[in-house]
Amino acid sequence: PGKDCVKVAVRVRPFSKREKDARSHCIISMGSNTTTIVDPRSQQVRTFTFDYAYWSHSGFICDKHGLFVPEEPGGRYADQQNSVFQDLGQAILENALQGYNATLLAYGQTSSGKSYSMVGYGPNKGLVPTLCERLFQAMKINQDSCQCQVFFSMLEIYNEQVIDLLSRGPRRGLKVREDQQRGFYVEGLRHVACKSSAQAEQLMEQGTRTRTTAATHLNTSSSRSHMLITLQLKQIFPKENITKESNISLVDLAGSERQRTTGSEADRLKEGTAINLSLTTLGNVISSLADAALGKRVVHIPYRDSVLTKLLQPALGGNSRTIMIATLSPADMCYEESLSTLRYAERAKRIQNRAVVNESPTE
Ligand code: ADP
Ligand code: MG
Repeated sequence: PGKDCVKVAVRVRPFSKREKDARSHCIISMGSNTTTIVDPRSQQVRTFTFDYAYWSHSGFICDKHGLFVPEEPGGRYADQQNSVFQDLGQAILENALQGYNATLLAYGQTSSGKSYSMVGYGPNKGLVPTLCERLFQAMKINQDSCQCQVFFSMLEIYNEQVIDLLSRGPRRGLKVREDQQRGFYVEGLRHVACKSSAQAEQLMEQGTRTRTTAATHLNTSSSRSHMLITLQLKQIFPKENITKESNISLVDLAGSERQRTTGSEADRLKEGTAINLSLTTLGNVISSLADAALGKRVVHIPYRDSVLTKLLQPALGGNSRTIMIATLSPADMCYEESLSTLRYAERAKRIQNRAVVNESPTE
């Protein structure tokens, strides 16, 4: 099998009200696939190159002097969720239909636009709902040659606990187990047979509601948990006597900012270790894989150190085609976090996966 590098996209959002009120300066600018960040203190300029760069800041761009100038018509502004879907969502969909596992990860500090890109708000539908829509459309078009099944699941990782967001029972942590065939999986997770995009959207809303209420109940914020939606796709081709099975994993990661803990001492201790654990381990796994890709000798990839990296093992260096969208605030006040996001994304793009078509004779 060929090697597939993780594809990386970056996206910068408009100023928030808070940033406008603080009279923020825009310190990010973008070319067709370059992203430049200016250190507001030293004026040092750093440029990164990614597969895609989405300028969703506004009708303004930051020129090479860091000045905020109106953008010429036909410029780089990509507010439309559509163009992001065309590049990223479409690739996920096509890979899954061909029988490859596909993963999409959203990484960035809280309120940088992860959920906007993944799920969307109101009429600005994000990647996940549009993906569901197109998936069911494609299944309908292919229905004469292919019988298709989709199973939908949605979970949250908080404090190294796995919570089923679709479970109707009491909220309790589920166990992650390992199986020779399946790799790591969550025991007892609800997988709902899904017949339409409307049903998928309804499940997503149900899961999102559960996540929000739980966060309120625990007096935390959902920005501290990781959310993972999986669509298991099974395609049976009767004429060819072939079955293809692929997983689409869609991950809205916890905010990447350094955790400033609040709440009781006990919570603080727990959060200090556990909440960071999944994100820290993800960073370690990505760094090790990036080093390995550069030809450095890497003895051990620490997948087993956290729940998140266990579940994402195929996505990171394994049997999956993977895309990361790294989201940024344009504002000078977010410089440290934005730079750290860009560096993280830079490492992620070195990762090499080995994806194969998951097909076998129909039983
Ligand atoms: P996160 O999930 O990273 O915490 P959100 O996606 O909730 O952040 O985004 C924070 C706010 O910024 C929301 O009000 C959202 O509508 C807005 N926003 C984020 N990205 C964009 C974008 N690309 N275009 C327009 N508004 C955006
Ligand atoms: Mg969010």
